[in-house]
Amino acid sequence: MIPLVFHPIYSQLNLPVRHRFPIEKYQSIRDALQVMGVPDNWFFTPEPLDIKALESVFCAQYLQQLQSGTLAPQAMRRIGFPWSEQLVRRTLTASGGTVLTARLALEHGKAINLTGGYHHAFADFGSGFCMINDLYLAALEMLCAPGIDKVLIVDCDVHQGDGTAKLAEQDERIITLSLHGEKNFPHRKQVSDMDFPLPKGTEDEAYLEVLDSALMLALNIHRPDAVIYDAGVDVHINDDLGHLHISTDGVFRRDSLVFNTCQQLGLPVAAVIGGGYQRDMAALTQVHLQLFRAAGVV
Ligand SMILES: [Zn+2]
Repeated sequence: MIPLVFHPIYSQLNLPVRHRFPIEKYQSIRDALQVMGVPDNWFFTPEPLDIKALESVFCAQYLQQLQSGTLAPQAMRRIGFPWSEQLVRRTLTASGGTVLTARLALEHGKAINLTGGYHHAFADFGSGFCMINDLYLAALEMLCAPGIDKVLIVDCDVHQGDGTAKLAEQDERIITLSLHGEKNFPHRKQVSDMDFPLPKGTEDEAYLEVLDSALMLALNIHRPDAVIYDAGVDVHINDDLGHLHISTDGVFRRDSLVFNTCQQLGLPVAAVIGGGYQRDMAALTQVHLQLFRAAGVV
């Protein structure tokens, strides 16, 4: 069994017409996996995180204002979603899903959350559709387990994992690796432990070569005990936001490289699907499904 974490709330958010965020994609991936014969008992349902409990990790004032809907209009614009109770509940459930995925990965070797990758969330503000940094929380969760002293976060979303880099900056137990489009958001990058900015139009072979070297370097230098993987597909050539030119097969080879490399070293991998922006839902779903093929789910 490969545990998959999903909650229907992932796709339940009322957004303005023509909002660029493809909120339906999570349910679409869940439905596609079901059609492909993934057994129901592989799916785990997360609980929302207790926002009070997060005050030991993130800024208490930010969390309280996020919960009560009293963040300044400017702070909400930076997040990119209109505030609603539904938004808060969804965010806490989605991040709870990544924390659950981290636990399941330690138990089963790998696990995938059908959402997640909120890497633009900082301690005291949200940004770029991200409010609560689930990757950082998942790393802290793993570090509580016996035998896990160091966690590597491999972020292959086309956007730099700026929030994660900043949050983990002072923590030597969490290593951040970001492979991203150098011209993509955020305009002002943070400093990860390892950054690999790629030029506009980078194609499969060059991309995979950099990832292979990056992984080898990170694993050899830092010797992590577990890996968290953000498999954002906004690296795809047809993505509305990403500036890279990675094919669907390139995404499959990328995800396979991460899973296979970690498996050879006996490292558990907790994966999240990350970003991916295409208006054609069927096409977008196909690209996200490469992660599940690479993991051996389908
Ligand atoms: Zn992204």
